[in-house]
Amino acid sequence: YTGKKGNQLISEALKKMSVKDYKAMPVVIKEESSVYDAIVMMFLEDVGTLAVVNNRGTLAGVVSRKDLLKVAMGKQNLQDIPVSVIMTRMPNIITCHIDDPLIEVANILIQNQIDSVPVVRSIENGLEVIGRITKTTITKAFVELGIDKDV
Ligand code: ADP
Repeated sequence: YTGKKGNQLISEALKKMSVKDYKAMPVVIKEESSVYDAIVMMFLEDVGTLAVVNNRGTLAGVVSRKDLLKVAMGKQNLQDIPVSVIMTRMPNIITCHIDDPLIEVANILIQNQIDSVPVVRSIENGLEVIGRITKTTITKAFVELGIDKDV
C-alpha cells in the first residue's frame, strides 16, 4: 500500500488523462459556406460548435449555436450570408494541443465560458484542425474516473 490518500490517487489519474486519448473527430466547415449550410451541418453532425477553415485548410474561426441563433433572428436570407461573417475569428480562437492534459483544457472551457476547443497542430501558415474537446468529452472522462478498473 502506497499510503496515498484517495484524492491524491484521483488527482494522479486525472493528470494522466491527455487530449490525445479523449479527443473527438473534428467537424469543420469552409468559410465561404453559408450560415444555412452551417445550421444543417450542426444538425447532421450532432455537434454544438463547428470549426471554420479557409481555402488553405487552416483554422479561420469557430461558429457556435448562439452565433447561428443570433443571425437567424434577423431578416436576411441565411443562404446569402457566409459563416466567415458571423464566426468568432482568429487570432481570438482558443485551441489546445494533442499533448495537453485534459484537466487543463477543462479549466480553459470553464475560464472562458465556452463549450469546446479545437485540437490543432501547427502547419505552414496556420493551424490544422485535428480534433475537438467538448464538455461531453470532459463528462465522459469524469465518468471513466469513477469506474474502478481494478475490480
Ligand atoms: P454557445 O454560444 O452555443 O453557447 P459557446 O458558449 O461555446 O457556445 O460560445 C460562446 C461564444 O464563444 C460564441 O460566440 C463562440 O463563437 C465563441 N467561442 C466558442 N468556442 C470558442 C473558442 N474555442 N475560442 C474562442 N471563441 C469561442
